[in-house]
Amino acid sequence: MLSRNPGLCDQCPGSLIIFIGNGPKIMYILSDVVTADMKINLNMNKKRILILHTGGTFGMMPTEPDQILAPGSLQKELINQVPELKKIADLTLEIPFNLDSSNIGIGQWEILGESISLQYNDFDGFVVIHGTDTMVYSAAAISFSFYNLTKPVIFTGAQIPLTQLRSDGRNNLIDAVELATMELPETAIVFGSKILRGNRTKKISITRYEAFDSPNYPQLGEVGLKIRLYNSNLWRPGGPTEYRPGFAARVGVIAVQPSMPTFAVRSILDSGLKALILTGFGAGNLPSVEPDWINFIREATGKGLVVVVASSSPHGSTDLSLYECGQSAMQAGAVDLGNMTVEAGYVKLMKILARTEQRDKIIADFGHNWSGERS
Ligand code: ASP
Repeated sequence: MLSRNPGLCDQCPGSLIIFIGNGPKIMYILSDVVTADMKINLNMNKKRILILHTGGTFGMMPTEPDQILAPGSLQKELINQVPELKKIADLTLEIPFNLDSSNIGIGQWEILGESISLQYNDFDGFVVIHGTDTMVYSAAAISFSFYNLTKPVIFTGAQIPLTQLRSDGRNNLIDAVELATMELPETAIVFGSKILRGNRTKKISITRYEAFDSPNYPQLGEVGLKIRLYNSNLWRPGGPTEYRPGFAARVGVIAVQPSMPTFAVRSILDSGLKALILTGFGAGNLPSVEPDWINFIREATGKGLVVVVASSSPHGSTDLSLYECGQSAMQAGAVDLGNMTVEAGYVKLMKILARTEQRDKIIADFGHNWSGERS
């Protein structure tokens, strides 16, 4: 049950604390409290953008890279470091949590989704500052939680903290805010020069400024001297916007390797999981003799699990009908991941499992294209 109890925060004048779900989140208004400054902005018809800061390298301090920032200092840093943001839009900053993204999962996806849904009508667009490590999972989670999104939800972050020399955080944030003012009815990631569909994206580099790519779908646009959107690549909403919360942590992923024994993971079949993604080779082929992964699939489907076969190759689509090894997996009950990313497939299964545990229904839902995640 949602409760909202606005109140003043002692440590951070000019801010509001709003309690949503189990924990407080702190909301700042990025002008000097709500003053004439904001009114001027409103008069100038600036778009209203909500920035949700969730943590990651972007906000970490250079001297203590492992320490989570206090929200107050983060607010100060954002205003000091990127004052020109206020020229682009009317901004409100909210800090629903401040975590290394390795610690982000279902609980945080729900907080984020709820925050966006509660304030959907109050803003023209949303920016989510997020750690790069699991950004694609969170972007997929939001894309699957909102049907027919009509406003931009733009994820971004940084490879180097905002307060350090040569940080990419500043440009990424400016690009994200500008994008959030545009006609982009999608959950997207902007990072470096690329604008990518969130549920199609993979993190491809730990060290490069171009940290993300979308191997099976073209870019939604590009950041150059100007921000350009490629309209024909954008997803179009086909009905009223609807927020559907819920994820079930009942999905496992196994990256099968040559000669990897099935006994190493057999216990997973009795663990209570309802779906399993097996990452195979090429078009979705798995070893069928010594070790016999086909028999493993047969056993899994016999126990009611949905088995999805993915590929270790990020580019292209799995096709279990191409080779004998793939065909045997299909005959044993496995289904294709298609050209979805493993990350999007994983989050989509969690979403489906929150609503149904019926095998046929899960498989049918998984095959549908919800928000551009597969083709
Ligand atoms: N460990 C960080 C995170 O994902 C890495 C980053 O933000 O780039 O939160």
